Amino acid sequence: METAEIRRRFLSHFENAGHTVVPSAPLLFDDPNLLFVNAGMVPFKPYFLGQETPPFDRATSVQKCVRTLDIEEVGKTTRHGTFFQMNGNFSFGDYFKEGAITHAWELITNSVDDGGLGFDPDKIWVTVLHTDTESRELWKKVAGLPDERIQNRGLLDNYWHMGVEGPGGPCSEIYVDRGPQYGPDGGPEADEDRFLEIWNLVFMQEEITNVTAKDQFDVVGPLPQQNIDTGMGLERVAYLLQGKENMYEIDEVYPVIAKASELSGRAYGADHEDDVRFRVIADHVRSSLMLIGDGVTPGNESRGYVLRRLLRRAVRSMRLLGYDDPALPELLPVSLERMKASYPELETDFARISQIAYAEEEAFRQTLGKGTQIFDVAAGETKKSGGTVLSGDQAFALHDTYGFPIDLTLEMAQEQGLSVDQEGFRALMSEQRARAKADAKAKKGVHADTTIYRQTIDAFGPTDWLAYTNLI
Ligand code: ATP
Ligand code: MG
Ligand code: MG
Ligand code: MG
Repeated sequence: METAEIRRRFLSHFENAGHTVVPSAPLLFDDPNLLFVNAGMVPFKPYFLGQETPPFDRATSVQKCVRTLDIEEVGKTTRHGTFFQMNGNFSFGDYFKEGAITHAWELITNSVDDGGLGFDPDKIWVTVLHTDTESRELWKKVAGLPDERIQNRGLLDNYWHMGVEGPGGPCSEIYVDRGPQYGPDGGPEADEDRFLEIWNLVFMQEEITNVTAKDQFDVVGPLPQQNIDTGMGLERVAYLLQGKENMYEIDEVYPVIAKASELSGRAYGADHEDDVRFRVIADHVRSSLMLIGDGVTPGNESRGYVLRRLLRRAVRSMRLLGYDDPALPELLPVSLERMKASYPELETDFARISQIAYAEEEAFRQTLGKGTQIFDVAAGETKKSGGTVLSGDQAFALHDTYGFPIDLTLEMAQEQGLSVDQEGFRALMSEQRARAKADAKAKKGVHADTTIYRQTIDAFGPTDWLAYTNLI
């Protein structure tokens, strides 16, 4: 079943059950606590917090999400993308636990001919908060699940709140058993690779206060109205229903792997390290497409830096596969082809999007071109002398002279089995900052602040003077 079809079925299942279909909010959302929207409920927060009255009692959406926290997992687990889509259904003071469990169970287990997703009920496991006996009883009553396939978990795993005083409540997660070839028996408690989490149902039932940690807070009392927030990973369901091994092999993502394989001449599935690179490339190219589409541009801070890192990691991974030519002009259009059905605005905006991505690759190629040799010499010397740590001096020189960000040096060092003296690096950086400050003070009123030029050169490389040959 194509990803677009799963999305369609999800929305129509809930639309038929009286939910208003709400389009995805952009990844950039006006929330000071978030870099990017990272869950389907984010755009509905004001309703859950009681700050605004929702214009509906029930809503459903497929929300674009970016989770930067998961970046290191990409390609290594089967289930973490930096970009993914979260299907959700929401109830604002309308149905509660029983309704949420019933809707979810029906969609998951109804046959494909019946508009459902057709999962085998015997392969479904769920978790509940250990004190939430009500949910356990509902899973038995509504779904007929046996007690063994309902696992108890503590507050750390199965309690939801926003980290501040306000709404909170237990959650219940739905898992699919992928089969004994993927790990030991024993449910999600035993193995979260074999037992794949596909859906999280959150039951907002109480007001909490004195929140000091995920599992440290006081319950004030029941909320005046109980709400439901759920999130189902579209890509995870897609990989199961498409009979694939992981979320990078689904119809919306895999074509980029295929293209990367064609370009590099290396086969996907032949070597574990290469496979991780292929998956990182496919994931990061797609995330970059979606982020630029929503207005992010590469930069040295916060959101812009996340995008820069994604683009650079994709480009470097292509190099590690042995492909040294500009890669994004080959890969980005492939991702666009797969994503434009659900997000047609990507196609109309593609000239702008691609220009930003390609310029970033070009600038990065220049940085790499200058610094890689120096890095290799430094790494070679370190190894020759029997060392395992690249010195702070070397990392600083790479940064200062060749524009290598420290995380690039760290990554490249790691690939060579080396670590980096980060403390030494940081000390040199702060010395340099202090010097620059003192300098600026001494020259105040004489020279303008030129750090902005340095940032521009770091970001885009030196400018070619085109006025002799181009008339614009
Ligand atoms: P996991 O434990 O696998 O990291 P999670 O518990 O962090 O997932 P939730 O915060 O409960 O995830 O999000 C709701 C749903 O969104 C999950 O059940 C999963 O299906 C999906 N999801 C979460 N993170 C990702 C991701 N990085 N890539 C793809 N899907 C994801
Ligand atoms: Mg997670
Ligand atoms: Mg989880
Ligand atoms: Mg979860």
